Amino acid sequence: MSLNLFSVATLLFLGLALGSFGSVIVARVPQGRGIGGRSVSPCCKKKIAARDLIPLASYALLRGRCRVCHRRIALRYPLLEAFSAALVALPSLHEGYIDSYTLATGVALWLFLLLAALDAESQHISDAVTLPFLVFALFAAYLRGYVHWLGPLLGGGFFSLQWVLSRGRVLGSGDIFMGIAMGLLLDSWQETLLGIALSYSIGAAIVSVLLVTGRAKRTDRIAFIPYVFAGTLVAYLGGAPLLSVLAPWAY
Ligand SMILES: [Zn+2]
Repeated sequence: MSLNLFSVATLLFLGLALGSFGSVIVARVPQGRGIGGRSVSPCCKKKIAARDLIPLASYALLRGRCRVCHRRIALRYPLLEAFSAALVALPSLHEGYIDSYTLATGVALWLFLLLAALDAESQHISDAVTLPFLVFALFAAYLRGYVHWLGPLLGGGFFSLQWVLSRGRVLGSGDIFMGIAMGLLLDSWQETLLGIALSYSIGAAIVSVLLVTGRAKRTDRIAFIPYVFAGTLVAYLGGAPLLSVLAPWAY
């Protein structure tokens, strides 16, 4: 399907709906709660009316405050919704068409965002998100028409190594699935390697700033998946031009 105002708007609406569902997952899964049933507000524990559950629009209409107690609604909810919409549409915009490959990639990127949000929120990712992420990444690689095995092997292997070296402290087994999925999403093993290098560079730069400005302590547990997500996104969007500059011999 070709890109036009209607098809892009449909993608964005789909992404907003997924984003809204994602807020429920990020708010409830770390506490071991199920995802069924009506949401209650985190501020005053009142049931949220259906008219106040419309992604982005409700937040804007309520001017960012709870209808019942008027306390501020955390900005991360509308941000997660907006970012989800952008991610679901991104692969189609990037390729210039919509098909099952770009849709599966968009859903995989959205699941990756949820893992990053879960890690940032609770330093714990759930297999309930990791495994669907792996399935959609595999699906996307299959629909793309070629599955290269070295990328997923590098991604999975890299995170396994960290797991073994830290004796299971730094990362869990879910991170290994995430590494495999990362390799499947990217086009080649070169891009996977670039994604890993970018994850570390972005992470090291941001953590240094946090340490220097005193906003984090050396002993703090630092969520790493947001940086892996950022590194993968940069490699996905700019892998080919970046590699041709950084490592022309790799092609
Ligand atoms: Zn409230």
